[in-house]
Amino acid sequence: MSDRSQAHSAGGRPTGGTGDVAPSLSGHRGLSMEEPLLFEQGRTHRSGVDLPPVPKVESKLGGLGRTGEIGLPGLSEPQVIRHFVRLSQKNYAIDSGLYPLGSCTMKHNPRLNEKTARLPGFGDIHPLQPMQTVQGALELIDSLADWLKKLTGLPAIAMSPAAGAHGELCGLMTIRAAHEAKGDPRKRIVVPDSAHGTNPATAVLCGYTVDPVPSNERGRIDLAALKAKLGPDVAAIMLTNPNTCGLFENEILEIAEAVHAVGAYFYCDGANFNAIVGKVRPGELGIDAMHMNLHKTFSTPHGGGGPGSGPVVLSAALAPFAPLPHVVHGPQGFRLIENPDDQVNGTKAFGRMKTFHGQMGMFVRALTYILSHGADGLRQVAEDAVLNANYILAQLQDDLSPAFPGPCMHEVLFDDRFLKDTNVTTLDYAKALIDEGFHPMTVYFPLVVHGALLTEPTESESRGSLDVFIETLRGLAKAAKAGEEDRFHQAPRFTPRRRLDETRAARSPVLRWRPAAPAEAAE
Ligand SMILES: *Cc1c(COP(=O)(O)O)cnc(C)c1O
Repeated sequence: MSDRSQAHSAGGRPTGGTGDVAPSLSGHRGLSMEEPLLFEQGRTHRSGVDLPPVPKVESKLGGLGRTGEIGLPGLSEPQVIRHFVRLSQKNYAIDSGLYPLGSCTMKHNPRLNEKTARLPGFGDIHPLQPMQTVQGALELIDSLADWLKKLTGLPAIAMSPAAGAHGELCGLMTIRAAHEAKGDPRKRIVVPDSAHGTNPATAVLCGYTVDPVPSNERGRIDLAALKAKLGPDVAAIMLTNPNTCGLFENEILEIAEAVHAVGAYFYCDGANFNAIVGKVRPGELGIDAMHMNLHKTFSTPHGGGGPGSGPVVLSAALAPFAPLPHVVHGPQGFRLIENPDDQVNGTKAFGRMKTFHGQMGMFVRALTYILSHGADGLRQVAEDAVLNANYILAQLQDDLSPAFPGPCMHEVLFDDRFLKDTNVTTLDYAKALIDEGFHPMTVYFPLVVHGALLTEPTESESRGSLDVFIETLRGLAKAAKAGEEDRFHQAPRFTPRRRLDETRAARSPVLRWRPAAPAEAAE
């Protein structure tokens, strides 16, 4: 990060950008090019390869054959490569720089993970292959499952959910099946008001009503308010720990006891497991079910880098209801239990979450991460993530306004009191950060704090890179207080697009660059 730090500490403000200079003739900005759609660039009769003329064929489709052009764009190989490379360069990524989105855990995706995921024995297999030919892959799923069970101290696991939110659904469906087996699915799920939006959404999707519980002045769930909500119609609590304020729910044992006392289950949103992995076993905190986002705690890519994966660990009471399939090990080697009739120990799986086994490529990456760190390394991951967040908190506590007194866990939450009387909002401040070369932190979440700024540095960042980030945050806070409003209200000034009307951009996106692309067409 040293060259970056020079760029920042030089204090020079880049000139140029929209507004300062006349626009270019081409519409491009320096070497950052506007990108037409493939449909705008392509021509129907152009082809990337020379094919021999197609011989005349007699249609045997009885008039069902194609009657006209289907209008697919034809492009040369260099055009296709450039298009996708340029698009990829517009995409900010963890490989481009600091990505401090709170709650999202944007940590480095080690290249070793990519190497193992591409081994032909993992990368080129098919889920319908005979089981004897994929013993290694099944063993890998079983080993990852074993690690996740050991790390959480819970005896069972459903590996197939494809994201954190999908894991939540899996957890609640398992809980619902367990209640139904006792004759009463129950009605309510209690969820703290600081929860991620997927928690109440999952509860509703699963047919429950959501009963919100307020947070207290310490940023934790209000235990007395929670107890007042609990009753025989409560199916479960969904609690995030450490919670979305970046704080450990230190009354968790009392919470678990109160929840269990009314016969409800304790679902933990494990999106923040990276703060405690190797330090605490959630099973020992009284948790009955918890998803882990492999793309958060275990370094697999988010989004475009690959699908998510959200395995769910389960207590012994919930284990029989876990969805299919299960990998089991017997005298003939590894086997996949896929059929409800084929089950061991009279289990009562509620169904399945997904076709096939789950996200195999992510399993390989996550196990690679786990094995390359080892048990002690994983513990250090949690310690370093927490240390990094506390370093930011300690450095900025006088310049920004911490929502709660420290120490925090793996993420640090500021509110917008430091912007009071400045005419600069949290959104303006975040946009100004983009002009400084930083992806903003998560803003306006969690909802329990006014104008929230939630920063999660993860353990990936060095002290050097954090210092540059901190210096920038401090400098912007000073600029806001000094009345430099323009810098904020015009931000972002140096991006291909300025501020969008986000609602309109989502509802009626303008995808075409311009009506025609004559330069490319003439090539
Ligand atoms: C990321 C996150 C989720 C949702 O996980 P996905 O994998 O994005 O579906 C749920 N809860 C919390 C607290 C999160 O940070």
